[in-house]
Amino acid sequence: MAQQYRITLLPGDGIGPEIMAVAVNVLKLVGEQLDLGFEFQSALIGGAAIDATGEPLPSATLETCRSSDAVLLAAIGGTKWDTLPSPERPEQGLLGLRAGLGLFANLRPAKILPQLIDASPLKQEVVEGVDIMVVRELTGGVYFGRPKGIFVTETGEKRGVNTMAYTEAEIDRIGRVGFETARKRRGKLCSVDKANVLEVSQLWRDRLNQLAPEYPDVELSHLYVDNAAMQLVRAPKQFDTIVTANLFGDILSDAAAMLTGSIGMLPSASLGVPGSTGVFEPVHGSAPDIAGQDKANPLAQVLSAAMLLRYGLNQPKGAELIEQAVWQVLDKGNRTGDIMSFGMNQLGCRAMGDALIRTLSQSA
Ligand code: NAD
Repeated sequence: MAQQYRITLLPGDGIGPEIMAVAVNVLKLVGEQLDLGFEFQSALIGGAAIDATGEPLPSATLETCRSSDAVLLAAIGGTKWDTLPSPERPEQGLLGLRAGLGLFANLRPAKILPQLIDASPLKQEVVEGVDIMVVRELTGGVYFGRPKGIFVTETGEKRGVNTMAYTEAEIDRIGRVGFETARKRRGKLCSVDKANVLEVSQLWRDRLNQLAPEYPDVELSHLYVDNAAMQLVRAPKQFDTIVTANLFGDILSDAAAMLTGSIGMLPSASLGVPGSTGVFEPVHGSAPDIAGQDKANPLAQVLSAAMLLRYGLNQPKGAELIEQAVWQVLDKGNRTGDIMSFGMNQLGCRAMGDALIRTLSQSA
């Protein structure tokens, strides 16, 4: 066997285990077809890890992830753990994983597929051809800045505090990912900030302008985050690559996601310095409302596996095989409930997985 890879699987909570099972079957088949050896190891994260060990990210999980070539994550969280204090909640597992692996860049594509154009809540002429990549800073900004916490003031009133902070080095490294990503796409980079109000954004904008001469082939523009949110809904085709801070990226990438009509279709990649272990996961959460009912759309998870092959293992051929199988399955009219439209063939999570396997087997 030509290549051997260790892949850590983190199924997590809610629909996580259902969609992960589909993605693993797809990866196994692609591995056989391309003569790639995948050694899978599963580990605990999120609510499942809290139930088993009391911690959202057990140290054994982080070690397993660190020693693997790539990590495929499904989703974490659920109402069961919502009442826990913030440092003990499932979300801390994700934040800890990103910090522990040094994943400072999150790439979220939002592409309108011709097969699903009717699923978009916007008019066809507004969304047709939309193909956006949001590059979000992942380990800095307001989610990590200090001081943070809920403090009691002298008057006895509580005061909640978070701090949005970026160093020049943090801005430069994510800025470079933005420029490099835009360079591989249509050469347009829009940096989103709030420089009219926030000093941290003024530094962000200065640094992006300083980097720009190194990338003469990339056209850099700037937007305030409120305007960017409006433009994403008004005229999304103007965007190619967006680079932005952690909080703004969290919100804008979900808005971009909804342009496509279903959050169940969108993958993401979280990357560190070249050569480090990346984490690949759907944009959506654990969907507790449909968990265990065989209703989940597994395609975002499957497309995350494709991103894992392309960005994590440098196996673009495998990524293409998976992406083509997804388009073909949709071309045949197969849909899960979240992307269902009139006249299409509604499938559950497992049946969608079976359809993918059949299509992939025929393409070999
Ligand atoms: P969600 O993305 O889980 O669900 C939002 C809506 O989209 C729900 O109606 C859900 O049924 C639907 N949906 C999501 N994924 C789907 C899929 N694959 N197929 C079909 N429908 C799908 O967001 P939420 O409801 O705000 O959060 C639920 C839980 O997930 C919370 O505990 C939250 O903290 C967590 N969460 C985790 C992540 C992550 O793991 N990265 C991201 C967001 C939210």
